[in-house]
Amino acid sequence: MPGSDVATREVLEPLVDGHGRPIGDVRISVIDRCNFRCQYCMPAEGLPWLDRSALLSYEEITRLVDLLVRMGVGDVRLTGGEPLVRRELWRLVAMLDAIPELDDLSLTTNGYLLERQVDELVAAGLRRVNVSLDSLVADRFFQMTRRDSLAQVLAGLEAAQRHEALRPIKVNVVALRDFTEDEVVRFAEFARTEPYEVRFIEFMPLDADRAWSRDRVLPNAEIVAMIDAVHPLEPLGRKVHSTARRYRFADGQGEIGFISPVSEPFCGDCNRIRITAEGMLRTCLFSINETDLRALLRDGATNEELETAIRDAVWRKELKHRIDDPAFIQPPRSMSRIGG
Ligand code: SF4
Repeated sequence: MPGSDVATREVLEPLVDGHGRPIGDVRISVIDRCNFRCQYCMPAEGLPWLDRSALLSYEEITRLVDLLVRMGVGDVRLTGGEPLVRRELWRLVAMLDAIPELDDLSLTTNGYLLERQVDELVAAGLRRVNVSLDSLVADRFFQMTRRDSLAQVLAGLEAAQRHEALRPIKVNVVALRDFTEDEVVRFAEFARTEPYEVRFIEFMPLDADRAWSRDRVLPNAEIVAMIDAVHPLEPLGRKVHSTARRYRFADGQGEIGFISPVSEPFCGDCNRIRITAEGMLRTCLFSINETDLRALLRDGATNEELETAIRDAVWRKELKHRIDDPAFIQPPRSMSRIGG
C-alpha cells in the first residue's frame, strides 16, 4: 500500500492500449457537483447530483491510483464537477502524494474556492493547478458562468501564485464562437503580463444541454491569427502526449497554448484514461462504454482482479474521437460528469 518503500513494492507491466499507446495519465473526477453553471457545460438549474455514498471514497480512489502508478500511470489529475466542493480534498491529496512512484499530482478547478484551500492543498502535496476562466470582464464572466465571481477566481490565482512549489499555473479558456472573440487579445495580454500559462480550448460536444454544433466552435487557428495580428507569435509545437500546441510571443513576452480537439485532434499519442466520481473507467473522453470499477471494489475484488479489468478495458481503448464522423454519437455523460 502507499507509503511502503519502493524497493518492496511490486512493479507491474506497463499499461498499454490495443494500439500500442502507453497510458501515463489518469484524470479522476472526485465529485459531479459544481458551484458554477457554465453555459457550455450544464443547465442553469444544475443536474441531478449523485448521492454521497455513490462517490468513490478517498480510500477507494487511493487504492486505484496505487495500482495504476505501479502500471506506469504516474500523472494524476483531480477534476470534478468542481473538485474543491468535495470536503477536505487536501486529505485525498495527502494520501495520493504518499504513493512513492507518483510523478505528478495536479488539479483542475474553476478557482472560486482556491484562495481558501490552496495553502492546505499545497501543504498536502499538490504540485500543479489548472484554473478554468473564460472571461476577464465581470459581466461577461457572469454571462458565461451564471455566477458573479470573477474577482474571487482572480484572487484564487493570486493565492496560488504565492506558492513557489505550485508550478506551472495554467489558465484554461473555453473558446466559443460569438463570445470568445472579444476576449482573445485580452487573454493574450494576460498571458504576456501575468505568470500563468494561458491555453484556449475548443468547445467540445460534451455539454449537458446537447446544444453543441460545429458552428459554435471557434477554431484555434482563427484565435492564433487574431493574436498574431497584434502580438506576433512563433510556433513551439506540441510535446508528445501533451494536448496543447504552444507558441511564444516573438518579442519574448511569454507563451500561449491551444488545445484543439475538434479542428486538430491529438488522439494519435493519447495516453489518458479517466475515472468518474462514481468509479466508472472511461478510456476516452468520448467513450460510449465504461467499466464499473466501483462494483469490483465494493464486491471485494483483489488487486489482480482490478488490474485485469483495467487492462481489458484499456486494451479496447478508442483509437480516436469521431466528432467529424457523420455517425458520431455524443456520449450520454456530459463534461461535468466526466471531469475533463
Ligand atoms: S478524444 Fe479520446 S483518444 Fe482523443 S485525445 Fe481525447 S481521450 Fe484521447
